[in-house]
Amino acid sequence: MRLYNSLTRRKEPLPDPPGPIRMYVCGPTVYGRIHVGNARPYVVFLWLKRWLEQTGYEVKLVENVTDVNDKIYDAARAEGISSAELAARATKWYFEDTEALGLGRPDVEPLATETIPEIVTLIEDLVGRGLAYESRGDVYFRVGAFPEYGSLSGANPDEMVAQEPSDLKEDPRDFALWKATKPHEDTSWPSPWGDGRPGWHIECSAMAEKHLGPEFEIHGGGLDLRFPHHENELAQSRGAGRGFARIWAHNGMLELASEKMSKSVGNIVSLREALDRWGREAVLLLLLGAHYRSPVEFSERAIEQARAQADTFRDHFVGLSVEGEERERERLGEALGDDFNTADALALLHDWRARGLSASLAWGLELFGLGSLSRAVEAPGEVKELAERRLQARADREFGEADRLREEIERAGWEVRDVPDGFQLVLR
Ligand SMILES: [Zn+2]
Repeated sequence: MRLYNSLTRRKEPLPDPPGPIRMYVCGPTVYGRIHVGNARPYVVFLWLKRWLEQTGYEVKLVENVTDVNDKIYDAARAEGISSAELAARATKWYFEDTEALGLGRPDVEPLATETIPEIVTLIEDLVGRGLAYESRGDVYFRVGAFPEYGSLSGANPDEMVAQEPSDLKEDPRDFALWKATKPHEDTSWPSPWGDGRPGWHIECSAMAEKHLGPEFEIHGGGLDLRFPHHENELAQSRGAGRGFARIWAHNGMLELASEKMSKSVGNIVSLREALDRWGREAVLLLLLGAHYRSPVEFSERAIEQARAQADTFRDHFVGLSVEGEERERERLGEALGDDFNTADALALLHDWRARGLSASLAWGLELFGLGSLSRAVEAPGEVKELAERRLQARADREFGEADRLREEIERAGWEVRDVPDGFQLVLR
C-alpha cells in the first residue's frame, strides 16, 4: 500500500501488515452544524481505516474536536449563550451528523479542552528549548529559530506574511501557542504565563502525542490546513524533538459552483441538510467517485447523479440473495493500494454489477459503508400492507392519502417504488 506524502511530494509505502498504522486527522471547530465539506476528511480517513483493517492492519484513528477558539467565542456572543454551552451543543450535532454517515467512528475523538495539561507541558518544553517566548501573557512560536519551517507547504519563510498581526511578536511570522484571556472571553485555564487558552495549532500537536505517541504513521486533513495549521503543527512537534507524522495526507476540497466551500464564503450546505435531502448513500457515492486528493464538485446535478448510482446498485440486488462466488478482492486492492484510488474502486464496483458478480459487489459496497444498498431483503407484512393501501389510494386518485402512506412507509425504514405491475419495497 502506497500513499502520497505531501511532505516529500511522492508516494511512499506503508509498513507491512499488521503495522500498526496510527493516524491523526484534524476534526472540525464546533460552533454550528458542520458543512458538507467537513464531512470529506471524516469519510476519506474512515474509509482508509476500514480498508487497512480489511487487509490485516491494526489501525488507531484519532480525530479531534476543536472546542475552544475565536470563532466559538464570536458565535456564542452573537447567540447570547456561553461559549462552553455552544461548543457542547455543536459537538453533539457533529457526532450525530457524522454518525448518520454510517461508517463507524474514529477510535478516539479528543476535545481540545480535555487536553490543556498536555498542551501547557508541550509549550513549556518549547520555551525551554528557545523555540517559544512569552509576551504579556501570550506565548509565541519563534519561527526564525526553526530552520525546517516551510518544508511541508513549500512556503518560503522570508516571504510569509504575518499569520495574525500583533505587536507582541518578535517577528510577524511567529504564531501563538498560548493566548492570554481577553475581556470578552468566558473560558480560561491557569498556566505558567497566567490565565489563558491554547492557540489552535498546539492542540493537535498535544493530542496526537497524547493518543498516538511521539511518532506515528499518517497525519490527515483537508488541503486548506496544510498552511499554516499543519506547517505549525510540524514545527511545534519536531521542534520539541518528536518524530511526529511520517506521511502527511491531504484531501482535496469540496467545491460548490466552482468556488471552494467554506462557511466564510457563505456557501452553506450543512451535512445534515445534505443527508436529509439526498440520503447518506448519495453523499458517500459523490465522495467515492473522486480521488481523495482531487477536488469534488458539489452541485445539485452531481449529487443527483450520485443518488441515481445508489439506485442502480440497489436495483441490482432486488429479490437477489447474495452468496457463494469467489470475490475479486485483488482488483480492489490494486486500485486502493496505489494512493487509495476510490474513483477506480467505484468503477470496479460498477464493473462487478454489470458482470453480475454480486458477492464481490456486496462486499465492496459494505467496505465503503454502502452495505445497505445490497440488502434487498423482504419487507415485513405491515409495510407491505401500507404499500398495498397506497397502491389502492393512487388507483382511487387519492394522492394526498397516497403521499401520507409513502411517508409512513419511509418512517418504517422502507422506500416504495412504482413499477409497471405494482410496487417494489427497498430498504432505505
Ligand atoms: Zn489540526
